[in-house]
Amino acid sequence: MFPWLGYGHITPYLELAKKLTTKDFFIYLCSTEATLSSIRTKIPPNLSNSIELVPLPLEVSPDDLPEKYHTTNGLPPHLMVKLKEAFDNSKQNFSSLLQKHKPNLLIFDFLQPWAPPLAEALNIPSVIFITSSSVMTSFMFHHFSDPGAEFPSENIRFRHYESCFMDELLANARDCEEREKGSAGVNMSREIVLIKGSREIEGRYIEYVSGLTGKRFVPVGPLVQEPDDQKSSSELLSWLDQKEAKSTVYVSFGSEYFLSKEDMDGIAHGLLQSKANFIWVVRFPETEVVLEEKLPEGFLDKVGERGKIVQGWAPQTRILVHPNVGGFVSHCGWNSVMESFKYGVPIVAVPMHLDQPINARLVEEVGAGEEVLRDGDGRLNAETVAAVINRVVVEDGVRAKVDEIKARLALMGDGEIDEVARELMSICSKSLI
Ligand code: UDP
Repeated sequence: MFPWLGYGHITPYLELAKKLTTKDFFIYLCSTEATLSSIRTKIPPNLSNSIELVPLPLEVSPDDLPEKYHTTNGLPPHLMVKLKEAFDNSKQNFSSLLQKHKPNLLIFDFLQPWAPPLAEALNIPSVIFITSSSVMTSFMFHHFSDPGAEFPSENIRFRHYESCFMDELLANARDCEEREKGSAGVNMSREIVLIKGSREIEGRYIEYVSGLTGKRFVPVGPLVQEPDDQKSSSELLSWLDQKEAKSTVYVSFGSEYFLSKEDMDGIAHGLLQSKANFIWVVRFPETEVVLEEKLPEGFLDKVGERGKIVQGWAPQTRILVHPNVGGFVSHCGWNSVMESFKYGVPIVAVPMHLDQPINARLVEEVGAGEEVLRDGDGRLNAETVAAVINRVVVEDGVRAKVDEIKARLALMGDGEIDEVARELMSICSKSLI
């Protein structure tokens, strides 16, 4: 398995790896050491003989890109281009690892379209596993194949910031395409395409994208991590224990994104004006670490017992399963959305860029939350943030629907994983002939 270099990519790969080990697969999980280190402790001891982590050295000098930045987690934004370049320059290293370990199958991510040709040169077949949502993936293929045609959702078309995020999304897809030619930047060398998600949630988009591409998209489940070990955050969790049931909103914008000063202000004042308690995970690039300078003046004094500010990282799944959490102010990264669905937490959607606005609309479409719409000038208005938090969290506006989604996902279990495992095993066995 060869996921892209970010926490939001490697964790679904690890969850898929764990499921495949129960179907007799041995997994090599390959990434940079900096990315692997974020999941090393998440491999259960009983699987240590079935999953091996394989570090990929990047072709770049430590002066240009120190090793701790060989991952997108916490990468200062201006170094992203360097990371992509270093990654693309490391093809030979990846090929050497394939020759050393000789897997029967390569499962690869859409951001490294150069990997399958290297595998094919060694007679190793490959299958793509997309960690984004089906709604986002189908929207991208729709745009590339026939943007004039009707997309199968009214909800996912008209919003005032549509054009600016579409430009960014398409530039990103084209960037992949240029790195290696392939349809919509995704070189899908097999008929079957694995995608993180479930038919319960995204059935119509899975069918739509399968029809558009002529490939069979198969959802491999929510692939949500089990709640993190709570030892390191016992003070935070004891604080949460003291609150009333469903009274607290969890606020986090993922593993990569850093909020602008204006967005920080909108969120901070919105939280204060709302009627909910809150846990807010605040992240900055490493060079900007003074919390007080980033928050509005006097904010920390006003928070009192109502809120907790966590700098850097929080045990998200552990917090989301807590009975006193009643909502999630989220950027709508696909992992966060699936974690909310699985643990039954209503979403206050504050999408930032790339796939997040589309995921936010899916959240609204399935009735699991409400999006905070920005002002005409793109600002997050504190009154709007507070009003949406109050509707979704305090007044339980979407509770019934969220409980229903949680129950349906629980019933579905691992979904189509048996069929997927059989098909992958059959591809593997052909590689042996
Ligand atoms: N996460 C976490 N603690 C944090 C921030 C993020 O455990 O403080 C985890 C979260 O549970 C999710 C992942 O990091 O599994 C973030 O993935 P997502 O797709 O939501 O966003 P991305 O980081 O890719 O933008």
